Parts: sequence; structure tokens; C-alpha cells
Amino acid sequence: MAKTIYIAGLGLIGASMALGIKRDHPDYEILGYNRSQASRDIALERGMIDRATDDFASFAPLADVIILTLPIKQTIAFIKELADLDLKEGVIISDAGSTKSAIVEEAEEYLAGKPVRFVGAHPMAGSHKTGAASADVNLFENAYYIFTPSRLTSHGTLEEMKDLLSGLHARFIEIDAKEHDRVTSQISHFPHILASSLMEQTAVYAQEHEMARRFAAGGFRDMTRIAESEPGMWTSILLSNRETILERIADFKERLEAIGQSISKGDEEQIWNFFNQAREQRQAMEIHKRGGVDSSYDLYVDVPDEEDVILRILELLRGTSLVNIHINEENREDVHGILQISFKNAQDMERAERLITENTDYTVVIK
Ligand code: NAD
Repeated sequence: MAKTIYIAGLGLIGASMALGIKRDHPDYEILGYNRSQASRDIALERGMIDRATDDFASFAPLADVIILTLPIKQTIAFIKELADLDLKEGVIISDAGSTKSAIVEEAEEYLAGKPVRFVGAHPMAGSHKTGAASADVNLFENAYYIFTPSRLTSHGTLEEMKDLLSGLHARFIEIDAKEHDRVTSQISHFPHILASSLMEQTAVYAQEHEMARRFAAGGFRDMTRIAESEPGMWTSILLSNRETILERIADFKERLEAIGQSISKGDEEQIWNFFNQAREQRQAMEIHKRGGVDSSYDLYVDVPDEEDVILRILELLRGTSLVNIHINEENREDVHGILQISFKNAQDMERAERLITENTDYTVVIK
């Protein structure tokens, strides 16, 4: 039976979800809320949604499923608003917020006793881009789509959600909301703080040591990539997961202190162990396996510094969809090749490797 789905917030996440839902359920009606006209227009013009509104409450009673894809604070505000609306009986309410405890706790409080179902969710995919214009039907492909079931997640809710979202091609997983926030504080929230601190420290240092800007290369780039993330989103993430993040900061200070002491004592063995342990731990971690979260398929080509060389490679790759192309300029000490091309999947990367090795004599490295 065709359903009516209401997506509130037609930003990167909401609009990409609308596209994913349409892929497997073209007969479902998708309603969209957005406060700004621009994203509403884009979503309508590109067929992501069937009808749009800037009045959140107006479409809510029509929906079988309501998905709030808004900043965390606004998600909570709309959950409170939904509690006072006359919704369809058994409607499923879900969200996409990057932290879960605050949202789930508010939902449990405000929606309790109402004839509605609720399941918190966090699709672990995204980019620094925002707005409906950046929507991508493949955004969630192979990414973890985390559900955080709670008292209002009655029997059958998850199955219905998984069926609704099958076109996202994501990997569904369930975890307790608090545990979600602990785990993400370590592997996502705290690394963002570190990347931005390192970036800020370097920028200040570079005011006096101009060469710092010029010498910053691959390692520095990898460490600070996420410092380009959207500030508003990260502010609300930190503010909605304070306690756990503060714990991570305290723990890290101790670690920095310990390595500082090893250096000050000149303890070669301790320093060696520090690096060796981290190396072994990283090598054993999931991030080395293809298909993990955020994994991309990178191919490096050692091209000569000649005119038109990049054009030639792109010409060879015509028809292969690539996600990114990067020229590692100047410092080649820690890069595998000057031209880095990223692909969405292994097939495209292997096709590209074959085409380049068959048609050129450049060295190609897959890492
Ligand atoms: P976005 O900036 O692309 O979209 C946010 C949407 O919320 C926009 O449509 C905006 O108009 C609307 N909005 C913002 N403030 C509002 C307000 N006060 N009232 C009404 N509408 C408002 O952001 P996004 O990346 O789509 O993020 C949406 C949610 O998804 C956030 O909770 C975020 O934590 C979560 N999330 C983001 C990512 C990511 O990497 N981008 C990944 C996973 C989860």
C-alpha cells in the first residue's frame, strides 16, 4: 500500500533521503517541509518530493512516517510540536540527528502516551556540503544507518523503517542511544575537536613561521580534512553530548602529558612503543577494510609534470564515475603519487587502474 512520507528539513540529509526512498518506492507520496524557499524549489523541481510547505504543522497529520532531518535543536522543537498535533494513529516519527540521547530522551518524554511510534536514527554519512542542491541518491550507500530503539519503538517499527529506506542501500544497525553517543564521541566528535585545534594552532604558528603553510602536506592534510566541516552542525553536536566529550578531552590530555614526559626524559623505548602500538592498532582496525564507513577507493598515479597530462588521464577515464581528483603539489614525501583519484566503488577503481596501465607507462598505486 502506498504510504505518505513527510520529510522535515530538505537539506543534504533530508533531500538525499527523499531520493533514496523514491528509488525503491516510486508510488509513495513524499511531502517536504523547509523554511527557506530555495531548497523547497530545488526539491520540487528535481522531483525529490511531491508537495512542499513552509508550515511544519500543516503536513504532519497526513503522514504515515515523519522524518525530521533538521539541526538537533530544531528536531527537538518539532518533536514537542508533534506531541500536540492530531497525527495518524501509529505514525512512525524518526530523525537523523548526529547525537542521539538528547533527542531520544525528549521524544520519550513528550510523545509518551500518544498513539505514535518513535525511533531515533543516525545515518552515518554526509559531507561538508549543505542544502538540497547537494542531495545525492548514493550518499548513504554502504554507510551505517544507526537506529537507537527505545520504549516508543514498538514491535515492527524497525522493519517498516528498513523497508521504507531500502533504496538508500545503507547498512542498518541497532544500538542504544547512550552507547551511540559514547562511541561517536571517541571516533567522530573528539577527532573533529582535535582537527580544528591542530588547524588553529598551525594557523597561529604560521603567522610567525611562514614556511609552515608551504610545507604542510599529505599528513597534515589527512589530519585536518575534517576541520572544514560545517561549524553550526558541530557546535550543536558538542553541546548535545557534553559529558562524554569532556571525558574524551580529559583522557587525551593525560595521553599527551604521558608522551610529553617520555620525550622530556629522552626515553627512547617508551617513545618507540608509543608509535609502534598505535601503528599496530591502526593496522588492525576496520578502516583498512574496504566498504567501511567513509571508505573511498583511492588510486594514485605518478604522472610527470607535463602539459595536458591530467587531461589525458581524464580522457582515458571518460565514462568511469569518479568522486574526487586531487593533485598533490610540491611535497611528495608522503604521497604515493602526484595525482590522486577517488572512486565510489572498487569496480570503477579497478577499471581505471586497468585503463591507465594499459594506455600509459605511469606507475599506478592502489592504497
Ligand atoms: P543542512 O544544513 O543541509 O540542512 C538542514 C536543514 O534544516 C535545512 O533544510 C534548513 O533549512 C533546516 N533548518 C535549519 N535550522 C532550522 C530552523 N531553526 N527551523 C527550521 N528549519 C531549519 O544539514 P544536514 O547535513 O542535512 O543535517 C541535518 C541533520 O542531519 C542534522 O541533525 C545533522 O546533525 C544530521 N546529520 C548530518 C550529517 C552530515 O554530515 N551532514 C550526517 C549525519 C547526520
